[in-house]
Amino acid sequence: MTEQPNLRIGVLTSGGDAQGMNAAVRAVVRTSLDRGVEVYAIYEGYQGMVDGGERIRKMTWDSVGGILHRGGTIIGTARCEAFRTREGRLIAARNLLVNEIDSLVIIGGDGSLTGANLFRQEWPSLLAELVESGQISQEVADRHPYLRIAGLVGSIDNDMAGTDMTIGADTALHRITEAADAITSTAASHQRAFVIKVMGRNCGYLALMGGLASGADWVLIPENPPNVDNWQQVMCERMIAGRKAGRRDTIVVIAEGARDRHGNYIGSTEVARVLEEAMGEEVRVTVLGHVQRGGSPSAFDRNLGTLLGHAAVENLLTSGPDSEPQLIGMRGNRITTTPLMECVEKTRAVAQAIESHDYETAMDLRGSSFREAFQTLRTMLRSLPHSPQPDQKRFRLAIMHAGAPAPGMNAAVRAATRLGLDQGHIILGVRNGFPGLINGEVEEMNWMSVNGWASMGGCELGTSRKTPAGSDLYGIARAIENHQIQGLLIIGGWDGYESAFQFLNARPNYPAFNIPIVCLPSSINNNLPGSELSIGADTALNNIAEAVDKIKDSAVALRRVFVVEVMGRNCGYLALMSGLATGAERVYLNEEGVTIQDLVADVEKLRYGFSHGKRLGLMIRNEHANPVYNTAFMCALFEEEGKNMFDVRQSILGHLQQGGIPSPFDRIQATRLASRCIDYLIEQVTKGSSSCAFIGLQGKEIKFHSLEDFDRMADLKNQRPHEQWWMELRTIARTLAQPCPSCELEQ
Ligand code: ADP
Repeated sequence: MTEQPNLRIGVLTSGGDAQGMNAAVRAVVRTSLDRGVEVYAIYEGYQGMVDGGERIRKMTWDSVGGILHRGGTIIGTARCEAFRTREGRLIAARNLLVNEIDSLVIIGGDGSLTGANLFRQEWPSLLAELVESGQISQEVADRHPYLRIAGLVGSIDNDMAGTDMTIGADTALHRITEAADAITSTAASHQRAFVIKVMGRNCGYLALMGGLASGADWVLIPENPPNVDNWQQVMCERMIAGRKAGRRDTIVVIAEGARDRHGNYIGSTEVARVLEEAMGEEVRVTVLGHVQRGGSPSAFDRNLGTLLGHAAVENLLTSGPDSEPQLIGMRGNRITTTPLMECVEKTRAVAQAIESHDYETAMDLRGSSFREAFQTLRTMLRSLPHSPQPDQKRFRLAIMHAGAPAPGMNAAVRAATRLGLDQGHIILGVRNGFPGLINGEVEEMNWMSVNGWASMGGCELGTSRKTPAGSDLYGIARAIENHQIQGLLIIGGWDGYESAFQFLNARPNYPAFNIPIVCLPSSINNNLPGSELSIGADTALNNIAEAVDKIKDSAVALRRVFVVEVMGRNCGYLALMSGLATGAERVYLNEEGVTIQDLVADVEKLRYGFSHGKRLGLMIRNEHANPVYNTAFMCALFEEEGKNMFDVRQSILGHLQQGGIPSPFDRIQATRLASRCIDYLIEQVTKGSSSCAFIGLQGKEIKFHSLEDFDRMADLKNQRPHEQWWMELRTIARTLAQPCPSCELEQ
């Protein structure tokens, strides 16, 4: 494709604000500058375009410094009635041309993107009119015959086709789960029912995923209303049964657009009233409202905004002058481009399907993982499992952990237990990993044994980092026989995978290992083969981003360099992704190693920066980046070389990365993966197969790999996969964090 170097790019945020918009603006500005393209921010959305003047401002590298962690949008957003009219758009076109801008990155919802598309279609006729009325010259019009557009979706609702996630949705889920967790603890204390209303007019994503992540008892979403007219009665019976079964709290999550089969809106006060009457107790309503738009963006939203903003500029630079505008989105972990209006139309089709009560179509349009999540939720929120069929074979399936604890492990156990029980099987919980299994710490789980586990950090079943060796294998084989375990789910990290692989190879000596075993990737290190993400890594990333934000704040008004050491063993995922999320200027990875020449060059850059007004340096170091040039060494070197210019502090984040409550993403993925793993085991046992596998997220898909491929897919020495998809993000991280060579040196 041809490159278009003479562009001038304008960037604006429009419609409702969303966390992560700042990261997108920063990426658009810095990628443009890095590519030698002038870039302007249009303040207050389309209103700024119509107002012109000071509202359209040239941006520098510095204008977008220190904004990654800020909520909302620093360039403002607005709704603009004038832009809906041709006269308004005429003025907007003139204001862009005053600044010679003919390329736009629009960050907004479907309304904003529709407006952008219309503007682009009208552009030639607007220009003709401006020339005719003498407002611009023919030369100016000739220089800008086309308007180029790239669209990014900033919307907390996650309501847009063409991207798995919209910028802001993940952070909104964080706010919802935080609120739901807090409400759950007070509800449980008082044995009370709560109705929590969340945003989403035509999209139940936040309610569904928020409900799944927080372990809600009932969820009402627009796309899939209750399928019976007496839903109130059914709901109340379920809630009462839940209490009888031992639940102390009752939480109903309702999307603001929830309605019944006939399209009548269901209000939160109506739900509360119905529950109050049936349960004979006070029911409280919490409307979360704008809290969902608040707070610092999650690590995911920062990185999503960054990657999409970067890709939007690349798209403008490489697409033909009058090519169709694209929506830049994310599928799996990859950037995608889809014709903008195709996405807008598909999005509108969902709203229309809901409007015409065609809920099947609405659910189909949302996609298979949405439907699957809804089905899983329906099982999870049962008060008790379905009773086994009288003639059903009940399998004995065991669940255990191995390796270090990872946030989200409890959510996985909860899902596997309940989904297994609901299919009529016997679920055994093994405590304290393989040593626990050898010692017979095995107990039968029931529906309520995992009550409240969705939101718990750590691992309730306990784990062990001990990889079995020698006589342990005998002990484990015996335990499998003693407890008549027919299938085993290992929710763990490298130690779990390695152990399972050992069992596979030990089958000739120990026939007890001839059972299906499945490994579910759970490790903050994200170093497991067959999965682009493992459970716990997202929480760890958020923990690191939060800590680094605080560390950076502590250095206000000082001239200081921080060297922050993060976990990951030999895998640089946490270091790179946290570097991207916090704007670190240098990331040291084990995969790349560190040489003394690198450090000399880094010292030089720091010295140059601080002598030109720089005030803060942030270097993130993977714990195993280099055994000799360790954190203490690097700090000493920088300190000595930075004398009189800056001081240096080290921060080894340690176990805070592993702790804390799991992020909504980790809870949701844990639930999805556990559900598939239990189905896998049931299927293998039913077939009489002893196939073993590890599960993983690959792109948008969930896939199983044969356990036999473990040693082929993993670098056993370094304990990480051969292929690491995120390595290709290194150049983007480097581009955005360092002052660009072609700009004046600014921070
Ligand atoms: P969102 O982008 O979040 O969906 P809105 O629908 O309110 O939010 O749109 C934001 C702004 O985009 C509007 O205030 C208006 O300026 C512009 N806009 C929306 N729809 C159109 C349209 N059909 N034609 C022109 N401009 C539009």
